[in-house]
Amino acid sequence: MTRPEENGPALSPLSPLSPLSPLSAQSPAAARLAVVRERLAAAAHAAGRSPEELTLVAVSKTHPPGAIAELAALGCADFGEARWQELSQKTEAPELAGVAGLRWHFVGRLQRNKARGVGSACAVVHSLDRPELCAPLGRGAVDAGRTLDVFVQVSLDDDPERGGVRGDQLDGLADGVAATEGLRLLGVMAVVPLGADPRGAFGRLRGLADGVRRSHPDARGLSAGMSGDLEQAVVEGATHLRIGTALFGSRA
Ligand SMILES: *Cc1c(COP(=O)(O)O)cnc(C)c1O
Repeated sequence: MTRPEENGPALSPLSPLSPLSPLSAQSPAAARLAVVRERLAAAAHAAGRSPEELTLVAVSKTHPPGAIAELAALGCADFGEARWQELSQKTEAPELAGVAGLRWHFVGRLQRNKARGVGSACAVVHSLDRPELCAPLGRGAVDAGRTLDVFVQVSLDDDPERGGVRGDQLDGLADGVAATEGLRLLGVMAVVPLGADPRGAFGRLRGLADGVRRSHPDARGLSAGMSGDLEQAVVEGATHLRIGTALFGSRA
C-alpha cells in the first residue's frame, strides 16, 4: 500500500528544479531567483494584491549573456538593459541565439541617435523622458513591425543626472507618447532619489501616475522598485519591478 506522501509529483526532491529542494541544492542563480520571487509574493500578499499583477524585469546590465540564458532557463523572459551598445551586443550573442521568447526592456538614459535602434530591439522602454525621443522610438517599433510599450520616466527630485521629465511636464509628454504611431503608453516610471525614503517617493509617483491615468485610462502600468526597495514599490502599486543585484549579484 502506498502512503499518501508517496503520491507526489515525479520530480526527485533533490532535482535543482524542484520547488521543494533546499536552497543549498540549487544553483546560485536559482536560489537568488527563488528569494526574489518569495519577496515579491510576500509583498503582494501583504498589500492585498496578486503576485500575478507583477512583472519581474531582470536588469542584466554588466552581466554576461550566459547569466541571462541561465535565468531564462529558470523561467524569466523579461530582461532590462541600460545602454544601447550593450543591448545590441546581447541581442546578437550566440549564448542567447536559441533562447525563444525573450523580451528586452530599456531602462537607461536614452540618446536621441540611438532611439530608433532601441525602438526596434525592445518590447518595452521605461525611460522616455523627452518629447524628441517619441518619433525615433516609434519609427524603430514600426521598422520592427510591432508596437513598443512605453513608460514615461518622471523625476522625483528634478536631478537631471538621473533622468526623468519634471512632474509638471509629465502629462504633456504622456499625451505625446499616446499620439505617436508605433508607441503605446503603458504608464509612468521613476527611480527613488538618492537618500530619499522609498515609500514617500513611490507614494508621490503613484499620485503622478493617477493623474496621467485620468487622460489615459489604459496606462495602468507603474515601473517602480529595484533590489533594495521592491517591497515599498509593491505597496504603492508597482506593476513592473526592475531587479538587478538581487538576481545577478553585485555589478563590477
Ligand atoms: C540598474 C538599474 C536597476 C536595477 O538596480 P538594482 O539595485 O541592481 O536592482 C533598476 N532600474 C534602473 C533604471 C537601473 O539603471
